[in-house]
Amino acid sequence: MCRHLAHLGPPTTLSALLTEPSHALLRQSWAPADMRGGGTVNADGFGAGWYPAAGADPVRYRSDRPMWSDASFASLAAATSSGAVLAAVRSATVGMPVVTTAAAPFAEGRWLFSHNGVVRGWPGSVTALAGRLPVADLLTLDAPTDSATLWALVRHRLRAGEEPGAALAAVVTGVAAAAPGSRLNLLLTDGTAIWATAWDHALSVRTHPDRGAGAAVTVVSEPFDDRPGWEPVPDRHLLRATPGRYQLDALTTVGRDNG
Ligand code: GLN
Repeated sequence: MCRHLAHLGPPTTLSALLTEPSHALLRQSWAPADMRGGGTVNADGFGAGWYPAAGADPVRYRSDRPMWSDASFASLAAATSSGAVLAAVRSATVGMPVVTTAAAPFAEGRWLFSHNGVVRGWPGSVTALAGRLPVADLLTLDAPTDSATLWALVRHRLRAGEEPGAALAAVVTGVAAAAPGSRLNLLLTDGTAIWATAWDHALSVRTHPDRGAGAAVTVVSEPFDDRPGWEPVPDRHLLRATPGRYQLDALTTVGRDNG
């Protein structure tokens, strides 16, 4: 299962978030602590998206190679600062292609999205749900993977102006009903807030109050250091976070797929 991260706070280098911590995504790409559902490494690509300035659309770097083998990314990460970042390392589900376009983050406009998990029985199990999407969306999927399909479903709701947490909740509960046993940890940001689901996979959150430098919040599959403050997100919950604070709601109460 892939690992992902989103962070909002005072500008910091990408490397301070993604490569330097003792259990950063870089380390999780070859030594993850929790690989529920199969896989041993996250070496099938990676990606990072960051907002170069408040209000600007994000910039994205994706690759089909392991994060540890990409020296260009390491130097870019050391020299790039941002106050809003979403990144992921990928372990491709069996049968899904190892291509750059299958690596998160998926993006449109101000949105960045990642999926950590698997849709059981994809694509057959979710054909009815995906069939409600415009044909053009299906013809232009980023990649033939479950995660790209989930992004298309979420994006469709965002384009319609749905509240982002409600959009994630509707997609998770709808897909879980159509494809039981799926692992559906979704992660979404617009650079000012983070929305995430924990559905049969690990997720943790840590907030930093504003002590002068500005408040922060970090959402991760696996805590990336031993410092205190990480709190596990209970399973089947939706998290809505902004710097310094977060809110949890049980997914069964917020989300029902009503089309
Ligand atoms: N199933 C997705 C893929 O293959 C996500 C993989 C994961 O979480 N390991 O891209």
